[in-house]
Amino acid sequence: MLQLYVPLNFLGVLYREIKQSLADMEKLFSLLEQHREIADAPNAQPLQIRDQAGPEIKFDQVDFSYETNRQILHQVSFAMPAGVTTAVVGASGSGKSTLARLLFRFYDIQQGAITIAGQEIRAITQASLRQSIGIVPQDTVLFNDTIEYNIAYGKPGATHEQIVEAAKAAYIHEFIQGLPDGYATMVGERGLKLSGGEKQRVAIARTILKNPPILIFDEATSALDSKSEQAIQTQLKEIAQGRTSLVIAHRLSTIVDAAQILVMEHGRIVESGTHTELLALDRVYAQMWARQQAQPELDLWADEAEPAT
Ligand code: ATP
Repeated sequence: MLQLYVPLNFLGVLYREIKQSLADMEKLFSLLEQHREIADAPNAQPLQIRDQAGPEIKFDQVDFSYETNRQILHQVSFAMPAGVTTAVVGASGSGKSTLARLLFRFYDIQQGAITIAGQEIRAITQASLRQSIGIVPQDTVLFNDTIEYNIAYGKPGATHEQIVEAAKAAYIHEFIQGLPDGYATMVGERGLKLSGGEKQRVAIARTILKNPPILIFDEATSALDSKSEQAIQTQLKEIAQGRTSLVIAHRLSTIVDAAQILVMEHGRIVESGTHTELLALDRVYAQMWARQQAQPELDLWADEAEPAT
């Protein structure tokens, strides 16, 4: 029993960490299949997305708590229009990543509904849901394997040509070619260490290979050098094309072009609109913009106080 208990317990810890960080949760999730807390409904159907440009996504009066007695999201309602980018901003702890975790159905909500192309996510199979969502996490965890394997994770069975194509589109092909063993170079903890920007590009290549209709992009909080940051922003625009995208943003400059910006405070959406509309509103977002203009290095708002229950 003990032997069995130890790895299962380890998986439990790993599972929680993955859920928390959004890091590579799409694929690692399948490794942890045994440990799921969320089950498919008995008559769950595969998600159907007919719109080529990505589906419309809706949160309708969503209440959510991780633990009893501490409500995190309060009556959160918004619609992400099909095929364009919705950005979410707000202080640390305001609930931005929680939106992404709920869309991926790591947890079930207590009240309200989340729908993709009109289908409630609790009524669809988790496999089809996760197949439809690509995540570019803040900090990509690389497997101790070749760089080719790490990119191929986006699409099991991908050919070498497809992998190279994706790497080119993610602007990492030349870098890989310059490595000692090219695509066969070992990376990860026990191999070559990649910079934050390079790792994010591997994640972008994976996502390009996967070609999902929905994209979640979790912007790095740690500052990248401005060249890497600009490159990643350009790539973000490119991969977001024709997908319904959710960007969790830490720098407002990244999202000025977003079709919609949601401003979160204590688990509530307090403002929404385009950059221009929110500046004209002259409230929370406008203040934040002014602060970040004055101090470009500033990460978004300081930590929030504990949200009210
Ligand atoms: P950041 O910008 O720092 O990533 P965020 O806006 O994404 O913050 P969330 O990660 O969504 O914030 O967290 C919202 C609230 O939920 C926080 O108060 C946090 O402490 C709480 N929380 C997050 N994950 C869990 C968890 N697994 N169990 C309990 N509470 C949690």
